[in-house]
Amino acid sequence: MLNTMDTSFDSCIKCTVCTTRCPVAEVNPDYPGPKQAGPDGERLRIKNPALYDEALQHCTNCKRCEVACPSGVHVGTVIQLAKARHGGFKKGPREFILSHTDMMGSLSTPAAPVVNIATQLKPVKKLLDKVLGIDQRQTLPKYTHQTFRRWFQQQKAQQNRFNRKISFFHGCFTNYNDPTVGKHLVAVLNAMNIGVTLLKKEKCCGVPLIANGFFDKARKNAELNMGQFADSLADSECVLATEPSCAMTLRDEYPEVLHVDNHALRERILFASAFITREFAKGNTPDMKPVNLRVAYHSPCHLIKQGGVIHTMELLNSIPGLAVIMLDQKCCGMSGTYGFKKENYQTSQNIGQGVFDQIEALNVDYVVTDCESCKMQIEMNTAHKVMHPLTLMAQSLA
Ligand code: SF4
Ligand code: SF4
Repeated sequence: MLNTMDTSFDSCIKCTVCTTRCPVAEVNPDYPGPKQAGPDGERLRIKNPALYDEALQHCTNCKRCEVACPSGVHVGTVIQLAKARHGGFKKGPREFILSHTDMMGSLSTPAAPVVNIATQLKPVKKLLDKVLGIDQRQTLPKYTHQTFRRWFQQQKAQQNRFNRKISFFHGCFTNYNDPTVGKHLVAVLNAMNIGVTLLKKEKCCGVPLIANGFFDKARKNAELNMGQFADSLADSECVLATEPSCAMTLRDEYPEVLHVDNHALRERILFASAFITREFAKGNTPDMKPVNLRVAYHSPCHLIKQGGVIHTMELLNSIPGLAVIMLDQKCCGMSGTYGFKKENYQTSQNIGQGVFDQIEALNVDYVVTDCESCKMQIEMNTAHKVMHPLTLMAQSLA
């Protein structure tokens, strides 16, 4: 049974900084904001569970409040656990479909061309909207016919040329939806004389499961993944993730939200750009040719939470010829599965509007971000294509 208490709320000094940083509170007057929903509410809920506020459903778990808090209150986690404790998650068929990404990926990839056409058709989108509550205005992610794991089978032998190895936690999106970033990570690391290996088995990190209240399933996945990490780290230096939400979940949500102990391995689970720039500092840089582009960089919330933006900026700044403009650190509003839900769609758009406006006002060739969910939201709402930093790095390989 999940322990649904996080006592960090007791350190709250009521400064309200968290509320000034909450993207939902900024646009949705129905949401009381992190101070009230988190520490203030927790004190009341302990005294009387009837004081649970349904408005907690508006929290996207973006973690911006936690980054802002000077007292180290795990505000987002306190809210998620309160929702779990008080039945605040609506766990219907829509939530099941949106959160069980492994299962949906395994079912959809064999028939990807058909699934992709069907999910773009207006009548299908209308039906999903009406029956499930998945907003018909939202672009649905496409699936790949050849999964990343299947592609990697052809690369496996080549990776044995390298003395050094890392294990790659590819995540669901890279495996089932778009393997591009995984392929580019392999190219970049190989150019740095580092081989890549995959875990024998990998399950969804758990971030969409947590966001939709499937904590027991998320914890099962976490336990399986931690076992796989322990095995694979016997032969590899570390585990890398290219998706910020996966890295944050593996490192922070496992112990804080799911109470799965990862302390023995945590320092060896890294976001890819943190590892790559650490290698740069040791003098291991690949030969790079200029990439003469002007790009705008959008920092994902869950990368900000890890303090990882500095590594991606360093990676981008190492690419010769590349001009990088850093956008204001605002949330794009998508927040994984949040923006797909009919009741959240407008809030999601309102949150992202500041990002969309800033991008449209700039004269750039591309937008760059590390997060697939942000990419989807930005491409849907601006005229710009979005790239992953590793794609630019792969382009620069001489
Ligand atoms: S996690 Fe994000 S949406 Fe939730 S209260 Fe904190 S800042 Fe607001
Ligand atoms: S920022 Fe932290 S200390 Fe300040 S009100 Fe929010 S939770 Fe409390």
